[in-house]
Amino acid sequence: MPQTIVFDEPGAKVRLDSISTDPPPKMTKAKAKERFESLNEELFELQDLLWGAKTHSVLLVLQGRDAAGKDGTVKHVVGGLNPRGVQVTSFGVPTTEERQHDFLWRVHRVAPRQGEFSIFNRSHYEDVLVVRVHELVKKSVWKTRYDSINAFESLLAEHGCIILKYFLHISKDEQEKRLLEREKDPVAAWKINVEDWKERDEWGDFTEAYEDAISRCSLPHAPWIVVPADAKWYRNLVVAESLAETLRPYRKEWLKTLDQVGKERRAELTAWHAGREGDSGEKAQRRRKRRSPARRKRVAEEPERAATDGSGA
Ligand code: ATP
Repeated sequence: MPQTIVFDEPGAKVRLDSISTDPPPKMTKAKAKERFESLNEELFELQDLLWGAKTHSVLLVLQGRDAAGKDGTVKHVVGGLNPRGVQVTSFGVPTTEERQHDFLWRVHRVAPRQGEFSIFNRSHYEDVLVVRVHELVKKSVWKTRYDSINAFESLLAEHGCIILKYFLHISKDEQEKRLLEREKDPVAAWKINVEDWKERDEWGDFTEAYEDAISRCSLPHAPWIVVPADAKWYRNLVVAESLAETLRPYRKEWLKTLDQVGKERRAELTAWHAGREGDSGEKAQRRRKRRSPARRKRVAEEPERAATDGSGA
C-alpha cells in the first residue's frame, strides 16, 4: 500500500522540499502494477454505484509543474473508468470571454453533475499559481482568491461533491529529463514550448505558490494529496489508491440508495402490470358485449361452415 501525504486542514506548514518525489524504497513496479489493476476494477465498480445512486459527484483536480504527468494520470487512472460518466477539462490561458468573468466562472460551469466525475487538468488554482508568479494581477487581487476558492469548494461539497486535489510532485532533475526526452521525440515535441523551460527558472517562486495554495486551501472536504511523481507507475498507484480509499466508504450508502430506488421501481412496475391486465380484461369484456347476438352466432358457426363448404382449407 502506498503512503499518501494528505493535507486536509488549513494552515499546515507545507514544505515540498521535504517530501520525496520518489517511491518508497520497498515499493516495486511489479507490486504497484498488480495493485493498480485491482484498484482500477474496484474504481470502475464504485463509479457504477455513484452513477446509479446520483447522490454524489467526484471532482479530481490535477496540478503540477510542466511534465509532472497530469496527462499521464488522466490516461491511466481516469482511463480505467467508464467514459459515460467522466468529463475531463484542461484549463489553459483564459479566453477573452473567460477573462470577462470572475476566475471561478469557467470552472463552476464544468463542475460535475451528481453521478459523474469531473477531472480538471490544471484548474482554478492557476489563478493563485501562474497568475501570482507571473504577476498577471495585483497581489491584492490574488490574495483574496484563497478564500474564494475555499468558499467555492465548500459549496460544491455541500452539494455532494467529493473533492480530491492532487499535486504531482516531481524533482527538478526529473522534469529536465522529461523535457529533454520530449524535445528529442518527434511525436512528443509538440507538447513542449519555451515557456516550459522558462518556468524552470522560477522553480522557487512556483514552489512557494504551491505551498501557499496547499496550506491555505486544504479542507477536510477538499484535501490536497502530494503525490511523489518521479516514477509514473507509483504516481498512478497513489492517485488510484487514494481515490478508492475516499470512495469506498460511500459504497454502502450508494447500494442502499440503489436498493431503495429499485424497490420503488419494482412497486411501480407491479402496479403498472396489474393495471394493464385489468385494462385489457375490461376492454375484452366491452368488446364481447358490443358484439350483437347475430355476430356472436356467426362467429360461432364460422368453423362449422368452413368445414362443410371447404373455405377453411
Ligand atoms: P500542460 O502543461 O498542462 O500539458 P500545455 O503546456 O500544453 O499544458 P495549454 O494546455 O495550452 O499548455 O495551457 C496551459 C498553460 O495555461 C499553462 O502554461 C498555464 O500556466 C496556463 N494557464 C492556465 N490557467 C491560467 C490562468 N488562469 N491564467 C493564466 N495562465 C493560465
